[in-house]
Amino acid sequence: MTEIGLFLVLFAALFVGWVMGRKNSTKKAKQPKKNIPNDYFRGLNHLLNDQHSEAIDAFVDSLEINSDTFDIHLTLGNLFRKKGEIQKAINIHQSLLARPEISQREMRMVQLELASDFMSAGLLDRAGRLLLNMASTSHKTEFQPKILGLLVDLYEFEQSWDKAIQIGTELVKETSAKKDIKRLAHFHCEVAQEFQKKEQLNPAFEHYKSALGVDPSCVRASIGAADVLGSQRRYRDAIKELKHAAEQDPEFISIIIPKLKECYQKIWGSGGYIKFLQEQNQQKPSTALIMALVQHYLEADKDYAEMFLIEQLRLHPTIKGFKELINLQLADSDGYNQQHLVVLFELIDQLIQAKHKYQCRQCGFPGHQLHWQCPSCKSWGMVKPIHGLEGE
Ligand SMILES: [Zn+2]
Repeated sequence: MTEIGLFLVLFAALFVGWVMGRKNSTKKAKQPKKNIPNDYFRGLNHLLNDQHSEAIDAFVDSLEINSDTFDIHLTLGNLFRKKGEIQKAINIHQSLLARPEISQREMRMVQLELASDFMSAGLLDRAGRLLLNMASTSHKTEFQPKILGLLVDLYEFEQSWDKAIQIGTELVKETSAKKDIKRLAHFHCEVAQEFQKKEQLNPAFEHYKSALGVDPSCVRASIGAADVLGSQRRYRDAIKELKHAAEQDPEFISIIIPKLKECYQKIWGSGGYIKFLQEQNQQKPSTALIMALVQHYLEADKDYAEMFLIEQLRLHPTIKGFKELINLQLADSDGYNQQHLVVLFELIDQLIQAKHKYQCRQCGFPGHQLHWQCPSCKSWGMVKPIHGLEGE
């Protein structure tokens, strides 16, 4: 929100707050009549002089905390946090907490906002202590999912995966929300990857299985489990996992194919592998599948491979496919034709290298690497290979 936008919201909120306070005071006939506070005029003066920050401070000072203005104070604090003025947000929320008249429910609302303030300010220990204290005393209240959600955010930020799994499991029991289930599965995958790096394959496999237990659609867990099985030379089981991954999300086929090819080569040769590619290409064609098939056909019959590629390009034109076609034509050409084709091949290759391979389906963040957690919007499992003319 811009400074002026924030200011307008504040101005409206404070005016409403003052009117409500005044209305309230007129109901109580014996109480002295409330006048507009001096701070309010001070705020107006700052506003007229284009001193927006000072105006906001003055308006905040002018607003008396009572049951009518509680929500306004809460909103003001949140606005300051969103605007990046964390200390002001903390001050407002702490001054609310210090009020003896606020109810238990209101106190929890403020504590939740204060925990968010601490997290935004990087005061993770304070946020953690506050939230854990709340979690232990707020069982079976409406706030428990929000408290657990913030704790999971905190542990995710700290990459404390074991704690994130523990609290994430509690959260999923509370909410059964798809987003919470999805990220809990990825927490298991993170732990699995750490074990994999240390070559502790059994616990790594167990965590991938736990991830699939939480979220059966977690393609990362199936690919990870297949990698572990491959390292254990259990190629048949790895193939099953990889085929399952292709069913879970065909968009990851370009990552699955090379792994699958390697496993098949270790045991059965290429028969089952080609059958799988052909079936997949009929159901959901992609450049990765077409290229893998072309590579296979080339071993036996170059003309057939070229014919197949041209036919597929007519149906599903892609730049990568076009580059492969030029590559095949190069072998049969000579002289000027060959020189021209080499230039064209190199240009297309540069074009492909410059293009991003992956993109977040949530926020559009592009990248050359696959991130299981989007570096931009932080959502899990939303960065996927790019498809279409310029992609797979
Ligand atoms: Zn994103």
